[in-house]
Amino acid sequence: MPDDRPNILFIMSDDHAAHAMSCYGSRINRTPNLDRIADGGMRFNHCYCTNSICTPSRAAILAGTYNHVNGVTTLATPMDNSLPTFPKMLREAGYRTALFGKWHLGQGAAHCPTGFDDWAVLPGQGYYHNPTFIFKGPDGGTRRTVPGYVTDIITDMCLDWLRHSRDPDTPFCLCYHHKAPHRPWYPDEKHAHLFLNETVPEPDTLLDDYADRAAAAGAAAMRVGVDMTPTDLKCEMPDAMDEADRRRWGYQRYIKDYLRVVQSVDDNVGRILDFLDAQGLADNTLVIYTSDQGFFLGDHGWYDKRFMYEESLKMPFILRYPREVQAGSVNNDIVLNVDFPALFLDLAGVPIPGHFQGRSFWPLLQGSTPPDWRQAMYYRYWMNQTDHNVGAHYGIRTHAHKLIYYYYDGCGQRGTDGRHCGGTRPVPSLADLEPEWELFDLEKDPYELKNVVNDPAYAGVAAELKDALHRLQADVGDTRYARDAD
Ligand code: CA
Repeated sequence: MPDDRPNILFIMSDDHAAHAMSCYGSRINRTPNLDRIADGGMRFNHCYCTNSICTPSRAAILAGTYNHVNGVTTLATPMDNSLPTFPKMLREAGYRTALFGKWHLGQGAAHCPTGFDDWAVLPGQGYYHNPTFIFKGPDGGTRRTVPGYVTDIITDMCLDWLRHSRDPDTPFCLCYHHKAPHRPWYPDEKHAHLFLNETVPEPDTLLDDYADRAAAAGAAAMRVGVDMTPTDLKCEMPDAMDEADRRRWGYQRYIKDYLRVVQSVDDNVGRILDFLDAQGLADNTLVIYTSDQGFFLGDHGWYDKRFMYEESLKMPFILRYPREVQAGSVNNDIVLNVDFPALFLDLAGVPIPGHFQGRSFWPLLQGSTPPDWRQAMYYRYWMNQTDHNVGAHYGIRTHAHKLIYYYYDGCGQRGTDGRHCGGTRPVPSLADLEPEWELFDLEKDPYELKNVVNDPAYAGVAAELKDALHRLQADVGDTRYARDAD
């Protein structure tokens, strides 16, 4: 009997915000190949990460647990590769599994990829041009430099594997994980001409003054054109510019390179989709495109992520599976990165382990939302101060509101509380700040510019959300900060 379980092509890029994809209504670029996935399947409008930073989000996706459970709370906490993960479970169930591209969960025998028949990954962040890869092998693998542009190379590796290493009688799960469009945004030469003589539209909040919010927003060191390096900008910083002009100038420098790098991702995803079509594999392959978190594209004057604000919290998530999912459909339920592995196992008919903290959203793909589907999600950013001077915080998002608690304490996690990096201007120490709350009315204030936590009109909402946050936090097994008392 042929094994007709579906193939899984799991495409994940790094730091690609949904608002730089035309299927999400981008005002600044077109992504025709990513749109092929959305047009042929389903677009999720409320997919969120539980910790908006690379390594922790990837661990949540692999292990199906929140970061306080899988231990990967910060960039300095590599994943223990003996943990059970979805690739291991699929492989045990007879899938062929492979991973090419970004890993970023540590190196060496204890942290290299496990659960894959084949893999080749970038060490750490890796390089855009002529990158070194670590290839599967003893003692954590062997290193070799590969000439070319990283997004093309990762795609070539996937195509080679699909052509030559896949068993046509066995379903596959291929993790196709781009480095792009992560900082420092070096485009391929063939995309260097894009946007050259254009002015890219600015986001409405580029000149945000951070008034009416917690101190965290104003303290963050991730302002475009201000907290950037000559490497980020590909030129020296001009003198004698006020901050508004500096942000506007820096935004154009930054966003054009970001979008050029995205263009290579879109082109290369198109190559893979063409291959699936040509091989007759498209009908029985679940194709997913997502990113490990969102990103600020000049929104609030920023680049980078980390905050629970929308642009950073929201993950793009589109999928195509013609057998089961109606083309051109849209979902507005709240789904999370910790849900992904449960979906994959469910689709493959593999039992979902009881310790998984996410839930399969297979019914959502079929247009049927279970009555008890979640109406709120829990978020926690554990790092404090170190990178970009962002304060540690946790919070809850419902469909209508978001409540955030900044506790400004690294809580002893590895890689926290150090000096901030990324800029040269003096920024306030977060260690001296008192914990504080932010509440946003997402319907009236979608850009999250006015904290209403102390507005008497929202007293009831604030109290309800604090209770809901603490319940959700307890439900997932996390611990409330000591000073977060009722
Ligand atoms: Ca990332």
